[in-house]
Amino acid sequence: MEKRTDKMEYLSEDASRDAFRTRLLQWFKENQRELPWRRTREPYPVWISEVMLQQTQVATVIPYFHRFMEHFPTVQALANADLQQVLKVWEGLGYYARARHAHRAAQVIVQERNGRFPTSFAEWKTLPGVGNYIAAAVASIVHGEAVPVVDGNVKRVLARLTDNPTPVNHSRAYAHYFQTASRLLSPEEPGDFNQALMELGATVCLPRNPQCSRCPVATLCAAFQHNLQSELPRRIPRKTVPTYAIAVGVVVHNGQVLITRRKNDGLLGGLWEFPGGKIENGETPEAACKREIQEETGLTVTDLIPLATVNHAYSHFKVNLHVFVCQAQSRKVVLNGATDFKWVAPEELEQFPFPGANRKFFPALMAHFRSTA
Ligand code: SF4
Repeated sequence: MEKRTDKMEYLSEDASRDAFRTRLLQWFKENQRELPWRRTREPYPVWISEVMLQQTQVATVIPYFHRFMEHFPTVQALANADLQQVLKVWEGLGYYARARHAHRAAQVIVQERNGRFPTSFAEWKTLPGVGNYIAAAVASIVHGEAVPVVDGNVKRVLARLTDNPTPVNHSRAYAHYFQTASRLLSPEEPGDFNQALMELGATVCLPRNPQCSRCPVATLCAAFQHNLQSELPRRIPRKTVPTYAIAVGVVVHNGQVLITRRKNDGLLGGLWEFPGGKIENGETPEAACKREIQEETGLTVTDLIPLATVNHAYSHFKVNLHVFVCQAQSRKVVLNGATDFKWVAPEELEQFPFPGANRKFFPALMAHFRSTA
């Protein structure tokens, strides 16, 4: 192993940078995974794939990508679709703001740009929901613009390659790693280079146990040379994720169930759900369920039957749902907070987009309705 010197700047020499580009691109050409969005350089499918990939792993995205393209094969089809339809197709993929923004961006492309897609990084960034990552990915892959993509995989690979001590979750990490990525980027093949770096992070330079023995750039890598793979990248320790106890009521009246729709903005915006909310200190789940339903819908409920308890994790917090089936004495709803409501038959619930935490108790709910039919 070479002695580590803090002054050494890795991959700064022209020769090592050229060797890095050549080896990475060659490796990518020979080893890239066969992915549906790589069969085209059309802006629409590439854009949609990058929207989905922004927060989600490839294996999860593939079936959603196929389903989305079947339902909305063109930007016009997406622009003309009802938002509820888009959210239903997106259901289960999470981070629903991505779907809402893609829908709105499609409308901008069709209605305000006569169906013309942006053709540069700067132009892509003017669309709703398109930030540095998506704009750089699409501009480099579709338009060949030399702009680097910096995502979680890329930051990890670059931190190891260049022994960069900047924590990858620091507020200035993007700017730091963007500089390094810009320096390394192949001006001739920016799209393939960006995909190659992301691919290396996803398949070889793994968060734990990087596969250095089969890495095409190992001899150019600072972490490999100095055995620093487990120390890099650095991270600022995360605060403990809080867990909230939530009471949820499946309100029944004359065989129909009440569902309410969340506001379009914010977490899970636009999705349907069963009314409920946080259990206060000293409150029982049952009392919280009655109170929340009263506050959110104006309904008084009785005859609460515990249905299920469900744990679900979001990116910054966890929830512990206490779910009850209960009876409403009337169906006169006065909404407070939600934007819409419906009384539906249990078998109609499948038609609506619900959050994953609600989906988890659907089997228990359907079994309950079958047993009481
Ligand atoms: Fe990552 Fe190892 Fe390759 Fe360095 S040599 S880039 S640590 S896989």
